[in-house]
Amino acid sequence: MVGVIALATRGGDAPTAAQSTTEPIIPEVSEADIAAAAQQLGPRDQELVNIGQTGVSINRAGGGRKYVALTFDDGPGPDTPAVLAELKKLGVPATFFVIGANIQANPDTFRQVVSAGHEVGVHTWNHKDMTALKPAEQKSEIETAAGEILSVGGVASRLFRAPYGAVDPAVLKRAEDAKLLSVLWDVDTVDWMRPSADQIVQSAVSQAQPGSIILLHDGGGDRASTVAAIPRIVKELRAKGYEFATVGDLVISDPPGADDMSSESRSTQR
Ligand SMILES: [Zn+2]
Repeated sequence: MVGVIALATRGGDAPTAAQSTTEPIIPEVSEADIAAAAQQLGPRDQELVNIGQTGVSINRAGGGRKYVALTFDDGPGPDTPAVLAELKKLGVPATFFVIGANIQANPDTFRQVVSAGHEVGVHTWNHKDMTALKPAEQKSEIETAAGEILSVGGVASRLFRAPYGAVDPAVLKRAEDAKLLSVLWDVDTVDWMRPSADQIVQSAVSQAQPGSIILLHDGGGDRASTVAAIPRIVKELRAKGYEFATVGDLVISDPPGADDMSSESRSTQR
């Protein structure tokens, strides 16, 4: 299914392609359309892109508000619907950093993520270590995944997370060229190692601070422990007075300071 490009249906300000016309909807999106849409920024998009200074990733928001963001990497996959079901029960918005090839394999699951109101970010086409690629390959890994997000989900993402948290000046430049804000994290639950749900809850809750960006995974292997941990993380953080927001809302409402950004990689295996 390739529909109308409904830019930024998740809280953005760009007009939809069909807004000002009564012409029949043409169910095709050309490469040129995608390239043009990817460069078209509404005010909220522009605000996000401006948050990252040149050559940095953000690791967390400013810490001025008792909000945190849950992020889920490496999907969409077989466990994504269970993650979505938990988030729906809890009324929690999240940010999903998706792999282009996984969208192609699971388009309906990806559309469920978008239609549930969650935010999506680019996690490359094939989850390679971007620091080991040539510039043209880096560009392709980002642009093909962003194009798949747009053509399948109808949203233009403004966020990028490098696989394995591996960045260098060239990778950060490619993200900037694509008008994406590079987002890493400050809380790694290490859930990809499949510890118990208890351990995932403990590591999320004990490390979370105001403005934290928490790394979890909905893809890349059996995520049963992560799914089991979600309601407990939310319950325990709410008991401490925290609320939940997407990464975009978190950083716009509470902009990161210099200490919350870095040009360094953050190491993780997934
Ligand atoms: Zn990943």
